[in-house]
Amino acid sequence: MDIKQLYRQVIMDHYKSPRNKGLTDEKGYKMFHMNNPSCGDDISVCALVENNIIKDIKQSGTGCSICCASASIMTISLIGKTVVEARKFNDEFYRMVMGQTYNDSILNTDAIVFQSISQFPARIKCATLAWKALDEIIDEDKK
Ligand code: ZN
Repeated sequence: MDIKQLYRQVIMDHYKSPRNKGLTDEKGYKMFHMNNPSCGDDISVCALVENNIIKDIKQSGTGCSICCASASIMTISLIGKTVVEARKFNDEFYRMVMGQTYNDSILNTDAIVFQSISQFPARIKCATLAWKALDEIIDEDKK
């Protein structure tokens, strides 16, 4: 099996069995909703940030396999990280999907499966939607 097939399998696995799926209105969680009209993706993310640590992230939405898998991978990549670490991780992720040089020792999760998405510019928005929603939540937390 080549690496592209492996990455495709990981994406399909997250698409079919999304992690941390389902929103919550428990105390302390902040929610942000984003959509991508060009593809029909629609994702909501809620996160619990305490003492600058991302304690929990949940996601829910509909859309293409790239978008839904990416939301699932975002949660497992960032839960437990500090806000500073999460920002750093997201920056590297955005660099990777834009086809720029990035630090793969930071992107040490399934997030790496979106490595070749830069060859499909129309899908970059799909791959980053949930991550941008999380950005909005942690930026909000700073204010
Ligand atoms: Zn999409």
